[in-house]
Amino acid sequence: MITPVMPTYGRWDVAVDHGEGCWLYAQDGRKFLDFTSGIAVTGLGHCHPHLVEALTRQAGRLWHSSNLFRIPGQEQLARRLVENTFADTVFFGNSGAEACELALKVARKYQHDTGHPERYRIIGCDGSFHGRTFATLAAAGNEKYLEGFGPAMDGFDHVAFGNLNEMRAAVGGETAAMIVEPVQGEGGVRPASDDYLRGLRAIADEFGLLLIFDEVQCGMGRTGKLFAYEWSGVTPDIMAVAKALGGGFPIGACLASERAAVGMVPGTHGSTFGGNPLAVAAGNAVLDVMLEPGFFDHIQGVAKRFRGRLDELVKSYPTLFAELRGSGLLLGIRCIVPAGDIVTRLRENGLLTLTAGDNVLRLLPPLIVSDAEIGQAMDILHKVAREWSA
Ligand SMILES: *Cc1c(COP(=O)(O)O)cnc(C)c1O
Repeated sequence: MITPVMPTYGRWDVAVDHGEGCWLYAQDGRKFLDFTSGIAVTGLGHCHPHLVEALTRQAGRLWHSSNLFRIPGQEQLARRLVENTFADTVFFGNSGAEACELALKVARKYQHDTGHPERYRIIGCDGSFHGRTFATLAAAGNEKYLEGFGPAMDGFDHVAFGNLNEMRAAVGGETAAMIVEPVQGEGGVRPASDDYLRGLRAIADEFGLLLIFDEVQCGMGRTGKLFAYEWSGVTPDIMAVAKALGGGFPIGACLASERAAVGMVPGTHGSTFGGNPLAVAAGNAVLDVMLEPGFFDHIQGVAKRFRGRLDELVKSYPTLFAELRGSGLLLGIRCIVPAGDIVTRLRENGLLTLTAGDNVLRLLPPLIVSDAEIGQAMDILHKVAREWSA
C-alpha cells in the first residue's frame, strides 16, 4: 500500500525533532553532527538566533500579501543582492528549480526581444543538476531523472563539463545561452577551473549568447565568498540562487544584468508566493549575518583547515578513498568503496553526510562550523575508515 507521503525518496530512519547550530536531534534522542546542512540550505546552522528572531517578528506582522503590492522587505533584499553581485535586478521564487527555470526564460526572452527570435536553444553540461521541472531536467540532461517522463523538452544541447572546445563546437545559429554550475554539486562536487569560466564568458561574448550560472548549491557563502563566481572574476549575465538564501525558509532568486533582463516587463513572469514577506525576512536575516565583516574569513579559514585534515585522511586510506575535491565548504571525497555505505556508517556513528555523483562522499558542514566540530567529524571519519579497513 502506498504511503501517505508519496514515496519518491529513499529516506533514512531518522525522525527529525529539533536542531541547534551544527547539531540535529532525532525524536528517539539520537544526536547528529549535521554535515548535510539540509543539502546546503542551513548555511547558518539550525535555528540561528538572529534568523529565529527575524522570522518570529515577521510572523507576528505579515506573512503574505501577493506581488500586487510593494513588499519593502523584498525591495531591500533585491537591493542588497544587486549591491553585492554583478546583477542589476532580481526576481524571487520559492526554489532552486524555479530560479533556474526563470534563468532559462530570461535568456530566451532576451534573444527574442533583441532581434534573434530564432535563438532559443540552451547548452548545458553533463553531470549538472538544475532541478526537477521539465525544463530544468532537460537542461541538465541526466537520463536517470528523465526516464519515464516522456520526451525531454526540446531546446537543450549537452556537452562535457570543463571542455571549452566541445562548448564552442555546440554553439549554433539557434543557441541562446549556456547554463553551468561554477561548482557542480549533485554531479560529484566538481569545481570548474577559472580558465573554463573565462572561456565560457569569451564564447558568450563572441556569439552573442547569455551566460547563466547556477549557484543554487555553490552560492551564498558555500565556497568562502558570497558567490563562487567571485573567485574567478568571471561574471554571468543571469544567475540562479536558492538553497542557503533563506537559511531553511524556502526562497529562490533569479538575478540578472539589466541588459539580460531587457524583456522582463510587467506580465512576463510571476509567482504567487515568490518573495513574500516571511521569505524575504529570512533572506534579509541571512544576509545580515553573512555580510558582517569577517564572516567569509571564518569560512575560508575553517575550510582550509578541514581540507588539510581530509587530505591526510584520504592519503591514509588509499584503499577506501581516491581523491579529495571541491571548494570552500563544498567538499567531496571520491571513494573506491561505495560512497553510500560510508555515508551509512558515518550516520551510525553520529555524523550526517551525503553522496554525490561519481561515487563521491559529499561534506557540507554549516558555514558557522567550529574547529572543535570539525575535529569531532574527523574523529568519526577516522573511526569509520579504520573499522572499514580492519
Ligand atoms: C538543489 C539544486 C537545484 C534545485 O533546487 P530545488 O530547490 O530543489 O528546486 C538546482 N540547481 C542546483 C545546482 C542545485 O544544487
